[in-house]
Amino acid sequence: MNIIDKIKVAGLTGRGGAEFPTAQKWQSVLNAKKANPKKPVYVVCNLSEGEPGVDKDMHIVEYFPEDVIIGMRAAIETFHADKAYIFVQSHNLKKVKSRLGPFIKRLPIVFFPEDRGYLAGEETALIETIEGNRTEPRLKPPYPTEKGLFGCPTLVNNLETFYCVSRILRGEYNSTRFISIRGDARNPGVFEMPCTATIEHILKKTKNVPRFGYFVQVGGGASGNILLPEELETTIKGAGSIMIYGTKKTDGRKLMKRWVEFFYRSNCGKCAPCREGVYRLREELGKAKPNWLILRAVLETMRDSSFCPLGKSVHEPMMSFMEKIGVK
Ligand code: SF4
Repeated sequence: MNIIDKIKVAGLTGRGGAEFPTAQKWQSVLNAKKANPKKPVYVVCNLSEGEPGVDKDMHIVEYFPEDVIIGMRAAIETFHADKAYIFVQSHNLKKVKSRLGPFIKRLPIVFFPEDRGYLAGEETALIETIEGNRTEPRLKPPYPTEKGLFGCPTLVNNLETFYCVSRILRGEYNSTRFISIRGDARNPGVFEMPCTATIEHILKKTKNVPRFGYFVQVGGGASGNILLPEELETTIKGAGSIMIYGTKKTDGRKLMKRWVEFFYRSNCGKCAPCREGVYRLREELGKAKPNWLILRAVLETMRDSSFCPLGKSVHEPMMSFMEKIGVK
């Protein structure tokens, strides 16, 4: 069985949050390579963890550096890739180099330090960044697997995905994923849990069931959905993170402002619904008496007409918070 078949049988999906089937992505790069064998192929390991409360990839760097490189090497060999990049936030570069560097040896892997923020983790914005352009997403299709870096087939996978590929190659993949548990957690940290584990199970297993009234934000500490304790019989969707918030100590308005500030800083300004929408949300939340109807209308417009996932994702945390917790 070749590597792509093995990944397919394992049922691996991308660990950056989008959960796209990894074998399909690899096959698409291979098809593009076969269609045009003279074109270079690139591989990118996306280590641009930019969302609050999500730090599971740096945990993998710390404890499983060799696996990451084994997974990348498998991709380089499968596509006869010319060059591979590790796309990493500048402030993490030193640590990442010291952990991954010793395993790179003669592989064509280079580090690409960046300080462009959260949006740079979106695969087409990442490609624009490496090419030296503004950090903005591109229209898809064409997908990076066919026309990515410098117009060539490019595989962009999250760092944890490469870790999983290594486990598959060793016959040790058990359908697990890494989850950061942060916020008002009793036992914060990064934990490896079965992909099928419910949030309730994860909190119990990691000794993180709060002894106070709480709610959680799952799938990213800014873009994640808000869930109540009675809604935790479900698996994690999106990025591997759970933020725990004590209901009494959390000021709802401040929390929403924090999310909006994050999106205000992180958006690229390319499309009006997101650029103007985040501006309006910030303005409205800054008032003594925000107009919640305007706020909701802006969020819906952003969800329906933003150009990329960043603008669309502001709706989820804000609306779920207003509906489930409520704001004064
Ligand atoms: S949705 Fe936001 S981040 Fe995405 S392209 Fe539009 S302005 Fe840029």
